[in-house]
Amino acid sequence: MSLKLLWQLQELDLAIEELELEIENNPLRQEVDSAEEQLGNVEEALSGTEQDLKEQRKKLKRGELDLEAISSEHEALHQRLYSGEVKNIKELEQMEIKLRSVKQKQEELEEELLGLMEAIEEQERRAADLAGQQKEISAELQQRRQRLDEELARLGNDMEKLQEQRKELVSQIEPQYLERYRELSRRFQGQALARVINDICQGCSVFISSAQRGHLYDPRAMVYCESCGRLLIRFSEEEAQLN
Ligand SMILES: [Zn+2]
Repeated sequence: MSLKLLWQLQELDLAIEELELEIENNPLRQEVDSAEEQLGNVEEALSGTEQDLKEQRKKLKRGELDLEAISSEHEALHQRLYSGEVKNIKELEQMEIKLRSVKQKQEELEEELLGLMEAIEEQERRAADLAGQQKEISAELQQRRQRLDEELARLGNDMEKLQEQRKELVSQIEPQYLERYRELSRRFQGQALARVINDICQGCSVFISSAQRGHLYDPRAMVYCESCGRLLIRFSEEEAQLN
């Protein structure tokens, strides 16, 4: 067993960890979340607007019925007043007063209904605008979900390949080395092994002692950094270039 296999395992494990993070915190997921939130807000506004419209239309309907009744009353009064049937001056005066009051009520109601119709039109424009936004954001959300699904499928595929490689690699490593690697890996957050470059441990940047240096040329020797405790590994010039 060469330490090189453990080094490869560490590289693989670090790549797997990075990929896990990429899957978990994928920026495309945030894009989906933000579109979902936007859509939720627009749908809430739209449903509120539609509810308002329903009430305003009901109010308009009632108002129109009231107006019809008042108009009929006005017409009847008007006819009676000018029919010549009523001769009593006092009564005619009363009727004129009543007619004016009904007329005023009618005009006020007409004014109110006009305002209501304008408000309804404005709400209708708002609802149409929101419905347009809803359609747009829905389409965008669908696209984003698709992009995320594709990305996750791609990353999942990469992950499978890495896990496959890892299985293959682990089968070549003796259990006691694996156990050691796991221990150190936990202790050093995945950086169990450290390379030695120019006699410096890359784990802690401290020079290694000359006694240790000699052992490093033995590929089977387990040499630990005296400063940080990581398992040291030294590559030849050619190997270093490959890494
Ligand atoms: Zn060290």
